[in-house]
Amino acid sequence: MDCIFCEIAAKISESEIIFENDKTVAFLDINPINYGHTLVVPKEHYDNFLTIPPEELNKITKLTQYLAGAIKRSLKADGFNIISNNGTSAGQSVFHFHYHIIPRYENDFHMKPRTKEYNDNELEEYANKIRSFVSKYEDLLDG
Ligand code: AMP
Ligand code: ZN
Repeated sequence: MDCIFCEIAAKISESEIIFENDKTVAFLDINPINYGHTLVVPKEHYDNFLTIPPEELNKITKLTQYLAGAIKRSLKADGFNIISNNGTSAGQSVFHFHYHIIPRYENDFHMKPRTKEYNDNELEEYANKIRSFVSKYEDLLDG
């Protein structure tokens, strides 16, 4: 087994589990951005957000909502970030899908990249590029 999250799910590797059911395990990130930073991980191996089946994604997203509330209340956080990094360029380092729940406090740190500006028709051009793929996918969304 060469996936650390598969090993954690199978209890081959240790982790500080805060919740577990038959499909999912949630445990503390060993390198937290803030204390209590939690990872919500399907026990089944899916590489990323695009390859986890939609029904499984629904379940893990609902669970992440529930756990985010528990984390916010228990740690008296002011807010939280839900993050899923997908691909090396996006900072993914473990290629087994997971959500990060990061508790946040007023003025703790900035996690906002510098924004860009669109020139002339670029806003519409980018929207058109994306829309052309969204419309092809529309039938699937109804199913
Ligand atoms: P990402 O970079 O989005 O793929 O997130 C992977 C996260 O997994 C990182 O924040 C790591 O700190 C965390 N991580 C890696 N190995 C372990 C481990 N054995 N136990 C807990 N968290 C881990
Ligand atoms: Zn895995």
